[in-house]
Amino acid sequence: MLKVTDMNVYYGAIHAIKGISFEVNEGEIVTLIGANGAGKSTTLKTISGLLRSKTGGISFMGQDIKNMPPHKIVELGIAHVPEGRRIFSRMTVEENLEMGAFTCKPQDIPPDIERVFERFPRLKERRRQIAGTLSGGEQQMLAMGRGLMSHPKLMMLDEPSMGLAPLLVYQIFEIIRELNRAGTTILLVEQNAQMALSIADRGYVLETGRIVTAADSAVLLDDSAVQKAYLGG
Ligand code: ATP
Repeated sequence: MLKVTDMNVYYGAIHAIKGISFEVNEGEIVTLIGANGAGKSTTLKTISGLLRSKTGGISFMGQDIKNMPPHKIVELGIAHVPEGRRIFSRMTVEENLEMGAFTCKPQDIPPDIERVFERFPRLKERRRQIAGTLSGGEQQMLAMGRGLMSHPKLMMLDEPSMGLAPLLVYQIFEIIRELNRAGTTILLVEQNAQMALSIADRGYVLETGRIVTAADSAVLLDDSAVQKAYLGG
């Protein structure tokens, strides 16, 4: 479904992504794990067209998306739920969801919002609340709900567990699993490697801009180097 080949990304003189290649198949949950600064967010931003790779290719469902503008990439079916949620904090919950609906026909927006509320009942109760006053977990739900408004085939989630209490992390990961069961393919970036590998089919380990290991999640959970570096054991 998504194929990244020889991605190289620079911030001025800083070579942040050093020739990585990976793929995500339809129906999978794939995780990119790695320490702070490994290049996980940069990878997602490059796929969604916010940054450019100097070399190689990015294809999605057979189409070359490497030089497409971000809104076209959303229209093709990729939603990016960024790190730190990036909700519109002065707008209400409902207005935030409307902002995610720029690819939709106006008549589809109210039923789409209801569909998001079915998945996130907590947001429905708070539909007129100013988004900046939501709890961290609720803001994460809103960021995911806003992403769902574009009917993504592939959802890219950047550190959804960041700053959340363990019970909420568990709930967010359950929701990711449900979205996947309902047919959305997931590319999940996480520092919480244990949780990410527990729901993912496969994982890639990123270290200073390079993929150093790629395997099924069960294999990575069992790998002593991965355990030592990322699983606290
Ligand atoms: P984290 O888990 O801390 O978010 P990450 O794996 O997502 O880390 P990136 O944010 O992709 O890492 O950063 C990769 C590298 O690129 C880091 O060395 C970072 O300092 C650098 N970098 C990221 N954004 C910029 C920028 N706007 N300007 C310059 N360097 C940047």
